[in-house]
Formats: sequence, structure tokens, C-alpha cells
Amino acid sequence: MTDYRNEPPVNFADEAAKAAMQAALAKVKNQLGQTYPLVIGGKRIQTEQTSPSLNPANHSQVVGHVSQATRQHIDEAFAAAEATFKTWRYTDPEVRAGYLFKAAAEIRRRKLELAAWQVYEVGKNWAEADGDIAEAIDFLEFYGRQMLRMAQPEPLVPFPGEVNYEVYAPLGVGVIIPPWNFPLAILTGMTTSAIVAGNTVLLKPSPNSSVVGYKFIELMEQIGLPAGVINFVPGAPEEIGDYMTGHPETAFVSFTGSKNVGVHIAEHAAKKVDDQHGIKRVVAEMGGKDGIIVDNEANVDAAALAIVQSAFGFQGQKCSAGSRAIIHEDVYDEVVSKVVEATKALTVGTPESNAAVGPVIEKKQFDKILSYVEIGKREAKLVLGGTADESTGYYIHPTIFIDADPKSRIMQEEIFGPVLSICKVRSFEEAVDVFNDTEYGLTGSVFTLNREHLAYAAQRIDCGNLYFNRKCTGSLVGVHPFGGFKMSGTDAKAGGKDYLRHFVVSKIISERM
Ligand code: GLU
Repeated sequence: MTDYRNEPPVNFADEAAKAAMQAALAKVKNQLGQTYPLVIGGKRIQTEQTSPSLNPANHSQVVGHVSQATRQHIDEAFAAAEATFKTWRYTDPEVRAGYLFKAAAEIRRRKLELAAWQVYEVGKNWAEADGDIAEAIDFLEFYGRQMLRMAQPEPLVPFPGEVNYEVYAPLGVGVIIPPWNFPLAILTGMTTSAIVAGNTVLLKPSPNSSVVGYKFIELMEQIGLPAGVINFVPGAPEEIGDYMTGHPETAFVSFTGSKNVGVHIAEHAAKKVDDQHGIKRVVAEMGGKDGIIVDNEANVDAAALAIVQSAFGFQGQKCSAGSRAIIHEDVYDEVVSKVVEATKALTVGTPESNAAVGPVIEKKQFDKILSYVEIGKREAKLVLGGTADESTGYYIHPTIFIDADPKSRIMQEEIFGPVLSICKVRSFEEAVDVFNDTEYGLTGSVFTLNREHLAYAAQRIDCGNLYFNRKCTGSLVGVHPFGGFKMSGTDAKAGGKDYLRHFVVSKIISERM
């Protein structure tokens, strides 16, 4: 087995790669508009009612019609998952890990085609889509290896006359609810970490990216994963969400999405119901109001570039997005003008044509983001953007507010769109205080050349992923284990060395000789 290494990005500046991506887009475009079933215990179930998944860049184009699970389907899925768990849990961990390695190889082979699906279904540009595919491969390679290590019994402190060791056993049936913004990567990471540890799952993809979810299911079937290990149940959250997390068969819930939904799931899953097998575990990765601090001793060019990339990459639709910039007064005007200039240079256009900035995901988000633009106009000074166009797709121009009050709503609330709020501070200490003054704690960046300030930031800034002199998005599996605390999540580090530990129980075996 080779050592784990991150999957390298595709270089689309290369003509051959560019042509291959165009061919992949053309191929996928021909397949838009098909109908997708549920998959329960390996059985395909076509429901009468389907939900359209639309191209956010062209909302009259249906990417796919997706079958919708009812509560009865959920009961069937639990039955299939429960039955499969009886054998899957005792399947050799090496065999289980083997499925992940095979899936990684298959995704690598179909990389551009899978990237093209994301271009159409969630509006990622090529590099963002390729980054997502690479991360999916990374999760598979990383968690597969982690399971191999975890399968070795761990010896405990020696004790005369006894042999003592620790082993891990799976929890049972899990409910996996991934987000649409990293439609293959996070879905793959959340699902396969759970199954490689011996659990079986119900996977409910986001309604905004269910076709990409189905592509993953198809791929796992192709590489021979036994039926019933992953049960695919797309559906309306109002119909099946609480039903799944409140179900007596649910052993754990793994969720990535908004704070409000995460908090609701934690509350709902905590309520004991008749016949449940144990206290349900909830692993939740939620929102962020991530900040970038620029000190007066800093490389201002690098800082301005990082602010633009962190705020507007994938239209700001990342929980890691740098939606606040906190800038020292000595360099404030200079950094603001560089950020505005660099943002003006971003092309806004279709993901298909690989524009830097594309549409936001859906009408509901489009309206929500624009309502924050209105709030921002009252709270701060608009210096760029604020305009939108929904005639074909859900486009919002990169928007920048300056002179924002740290307590204002645009500095406190997650917008999840291309809106950056900038505020001025008089000292580095004040910058750190402003940074911490949110309910979230996910990512952050600090730009300074002052080592004492870096040490101060490392100690005082409350967030799960803190970056120095670089952008606050783009975590790499294994390199930057990802996840936050406070109201950003339960501190599970995806792509971290202990991630699988969330999906197992520990058993201590003690034998008297
Ligand atoms: N891991 C991603 C990053 O570092 C963000 C994941 C998310 O938005 O959920 O940019």
C-alpha cells in the first residue's frame, strides 16, 4: 500500500485538459433531464412524484427528475440497512476498505465527467468542480487507510498475567445528510467513513444535488459494494427529515449543512423514542462567519488576493468562506482598494464557460442573499456589486460593504453568498476580539509578518481551522483536517486522523492467562 497523498488538481490551462473537459460537458449535457430512482436494498424504486433538480445557471434546464422517498420508503430502507448490517459489520475490514480504494480508482478514471455533472447541477466552475472530485478521491484513500490501522487491536498498558487490548465495533444504522455545496466530496466522505467502519446507512442527498448523489450510488454499485450497505433516499426534508433522525433504528446522524438545521437535528435525535438501541450520536458540521484579519505589518497584496478568493470562490457558498475582513486602520484604505480592484476583475458568467463567478444555487438562496444586500445598504457602505439578474440563472454580482460595524447583522450572520463585509480596527488585539465576536468558530486567516501576533492569534482565535498568511478556504484531506466548534459544529475533523472514531464504539478485551 502506498502512502496517502492528495490527488493533484487538473491544469485546465493545458489545451488537452481543456478540450477533454469540453468533451465531458458535451457528453453530460446530452444526459440531462433523465429520471432517477431511490435505491433501497439494491432495488430501484421509481416514485410517482419526482422533484426536478435545476441548473442554477439556467433554471429552465432540468438536470434530472429525482424520485422522492416517503416515510414508508424510509421504513423499508431502515429494514434493508438493518438486515445488511448483520453481515456487513463482520465483513473483513480489509475488504471494506478495498471498496473505498476501488471507488477512488473509478472516480479518478471518470474525473472530468463527474466534474461536468457538478458544473450543471450546482454551478461550479471547472477548478471548483475538479477540486471537489479530488477531495472525494482523497476521502476514500484516507479513510480506507484509517480503517486498516483501526482494525489492528491496540495493546494496552502491560499487566502481569493478562493480555489486554482495545478493538472497535460499528454503531449500527446511520443517517447521512450531506450538503449540496461539495456535492460529491462531502457526500462521499460522510458516507464512506461510516460504512468503512462497518455501519450501514440511509443517504439523503440535498434536493439541490441529488443527481450527483445518484452518480455516487451508481459508482458504488459498479465497484461491487453489496446491496443494502448504502440506501439512497432523496426526498423532501419536511416529509422525511425528522422521521429519519427520530427513527428508533437510527444509531447516529452525520449532518453537514446550516446551523439551524444542525441544531434542530441535535435536539430531535436527542429525544428518546421507544425501542431505540442507544443514545444517538450526532456529528454536525454547520455554518461559519469566517474572518480574515490584516495587520499593519502584512503583505497587503497577498492579503487582498486571499480576501477575494476566500469571499467569492464558488460565489461564497462555502461554510469556510471568508465573509468578513477585519483590517488595521494603517493599511485599511490600501487593502480595501486592492480588494475592490481584484474583485472587479472577476468575470461573472456561466460555469459551463468556466467563468470565475457563477450563479447561486437556487431561488430561495438568491432571495435571501439579496435581502442581506438590502440590510447591508442600511448598515454599511456599499462599494461594489449589490446588483443581480435572475432572468436565466441566479446571478448576484460580487458585493462588498465597507466600514461595517462588528455588531451589525452583515458581520454576524451567515449569508452563504458573494457578499463581503469589511471593518476597520485600531490594533491587532482589537482585530482578534472582533474576529471572536460571532457565534461561529469554523475557519479564519491572519495576515501579519509579526511573529508575536501570530502566536497571540494561535492562542486566542476561536476557530477550528486557522490559517496564517493564506486564504481560509480549500482545506486538503489529511493536510488540514476540517471542522469547527462553537455554533459551527461538533468538532469532528473530516479528513483527520481520528475521524472514524465517531462511527464506532470501543471494546476492551481482557484475558487472564
Ligand atoms: N472544506 C471546505 C474548505 O475548506 C469547506 C467545506 C464546506 O463548505 O462545507 O473550503
